[in-house]
Amino acid sequence: MLGMLTGLAAGVAAGCAGCAAVRPTSQFFGPTLAYGSDPGQMAFTFDDGPNDPHTLHLLDLLNKYNAKATFFLIGKYVRKRPDIVRTIKQGGHAVGNHTYNHPNLLFTPLDRLQQELEDCNKALEDAVGAGDPLFRSPFACRRRRVLRAAHALGLAHVMWSVTAYDWNAKSSQAIITNVVRRVAASRRRRAEVILLHDGNYVGFGADRSFTVEAMRVLLEKYSAQGKQFVSIVELAV
Ligand SMILES: [Zn+2]
Repeated sequence: MLGMLTGLAAGVAAGCAGCAAVRPTSQFFGPTLAYGSDPGQMAFTFDDGPNDPHTLHLLDLLNKYNAKATFFLIGKYVRKRPDIVRTIKQGGHAVGNHTYNHPNLLFTPLDRLQQELEDCNKALEDAVGAGDPLFRSPFACRRRRVLRAAHALGLAHVMWSVTAYDWNAKSSQAIITNVVRRVAASRRRRAEVILLHDGNYVGFGADRSFTVEAMRVLLEKYSAQGKQFVSIVELAV
């Protein structure tokens, strides 16, 4: 599957409205994975970790439902808590590159961009041997040179099809509603890739308890519908 993804040569977040104006499923900037082909699957993705304790709480929940997910990790946080990254991998989840410092790549010179990707890869290597060959751009900022730099390192570019808007949600119910409405509104028979956050690029230790609570409900709801929760590595494309 990853071979296919890489072969394809393959958030919308506050502070990057110019980028957010382009749909996350857009292929305009280059090959991008945003959803899968099997409607029986569902892929939860978490950005901006690892984070303590919320990443660990999510892992407990995912384990309870035998769910696999994908974590797009910030390299400097990986350096801070490699033990959490090892726990993620031991749970059978995928870990992807989300750069080392989470810069806005719209304004990042090419040499710094490459450094950001390589430094995050190195942090993942030191923590777990190697990350999975996946990359998600901070703030959903895509430029062709960003995607080319990622592909040059063998990283497939991954966006999403459903935005949970959990980074500024006022309650877990708001997150649940965002996801359920968008999944229901999707008329296409496909596997949705859902964007959530277990951390915050602004600082380590951010409170993501609303996201954890929302996941408790979402996993229960969609497991009752027979969904198979997969990592991006397992997603049928
Ligand atoms: Zn991010």
